[in-house]
Amino acid sequence: MDTNTHGTHAQCGHLDRRGFLRLSTSVAALGLLGGSLYGSLAYADALTKEQRDKLTPDEILAQMKRGNERFRKGERKPRNYLREQKASAKGQYPAAVVLSCIDSRAPAEVIMDLGIGDIFNCRVAGNIANDDILGSMEFACKLSGAKVALIMGHTACGAIKGAIDNAELGNLTGLLAKIKPAVQATVYSGERTAKNYGFVDAVARKNVEFVMAHIREQSTVLRELESQRAVKIAGAMYNLETAAIDFFA
Ligand SMILES: [Zn+2]
Repeated sequence: MDTNTHGTHAQCGHLDRRGFLRLSTSVAALGLLGGSLYGSLAYADALTKEQRDKLTPDEILAQMKRGNERFRKGERKPRNYLREQKASAKGQYPAAVVLSCIDSRAPAEVIMDLGIGDIFNCRVAGNIANDDILGSMEFACKLSGAKVALIMGHTACGAIKGAIDNAELGNLTGLLAKIKPAVQATVYSGERTAKNYGFVDAVARKNVEFVMAHIREQSTVLRELESQRAVKIAGAMYNLETAAIDFFA
């Protein structure tokens, strides 16, 4: 929590809910209230179905980009996690599903300044897709109404390095095998080793492209939703050094 959050909370602490909503409408007009995906129309603590359904996939991606810009500048929308938790306890209407790596330095909500109830999260080393990940994404989009499926790789990814190095360890071996086609397909003129971060990051990007293609090939549900323009399948790379997310489109 930052000081702004406490400040906002303190101001609202003595108001009843109706009073809070009145206050929040004016606060929202200034773009100060939490609930990152509301944009300038913020007036509640977690996305409602009505709010989510009004957003287009492009608007949701734009909100994610703006959230990352705030993160990079050290800014954050004031938010109250307990209020978000209470507002979302009886139902969730996330706008997107994000498939990203388990890397501790790339938590999607934090680096895109999002809150509770904003996005579904699939996290697996190397942000690969298998049948269970596809099932999770199909649930998120077809049954729960998320409109963006964002595949987000990141720089200096250990899973990508492991695939380049042909690392072998228990069940990790099979996971890394899913990344190896991206290693082979990466066109790169320099040193093709895990020590060369230029190559590692090029493979990570190719891997995101391959995962996007895999989703379109292997998930009839998501492919149809995308062809109906109900869902956008998007790719991105998060840079651990600069904190910037490079959205592919
Ligand atoms: Zn990683």
